Amino acid sequence: MEEIIVATKNEGKKREFASILKEYHIVSLNDLNYQDDIIEDGKTFKENAVIKASTIAKIYNKPVISDDSGLEVFSLNNEPGIYSARYAGDMHDDKLNNALLIKNLEGKENTDCRYVCAIALCYPDGRSVVVEDYCYGKIILTPRGNGGFGYDPYFYVKEFGKTMAELSLEEKNKISHRGKAIRKLREALK
Ligand code: IMP
Repeated sequence: MEEIIVATKNEGKKREFASILKEYHIVSLNDLNYQDDIIEDGKTFKENAVIKASTIAKIYNKPVISDDSGLEVFSLNNEPGIYSARYAGDMHDDKLNNALLIKNLEGKENTDCRYVCAIALCYPDGRSVVVEDYCYGKIILTPRGNGGFGYDPYFYVKEFGKTMAELSLEEKNKISHRGKAIRKLREALK
């Protein structure tokens, strides 16, 4: 089975990539025992995806995929945006991030939002393909469900009447920003 490196330490993301790109053996930065932090100083999801994938592609001399993703809440000026993983600080703690999000939404009537996912495929010679896709929803103030990761227990998906954390992996992949972006990358590669 062909191997693909996905430049992430997030096991939730790895699981979602593996469940869609079933024909590949997905290897994460944890599997490679890659400990360093990659400085994500891009201004957009796409820039950060390219920074991560190109850094790892050069080090391992192999094509690398990376995902930069996050949540944009429209009534919070699209926060937390590219800072989604470290919204409440550098601890990258989902519980603290969620608590801050709910606090910042106190008194706001409109909690419409979207998940954004940029995926970059970078080759060691500098070539790259970048795609982006979205999933729209709204934030609810009381969490529901145990699946997914990050903001999923608070992210309500209208068409299912459930939060992302209440969906099966297959259901989430069908409608999620990451599922859609991965399929877009596949099309772009054809
Ligand atoms: P990144 O690893 O720097 O791309 O940060 C992604 C962050 O965005 C995660 O840590 C989550 O906080 C959030 N995020 C991205 N995709 C999802 C998702 O599918 N569910 C829940 N949270 C997500």
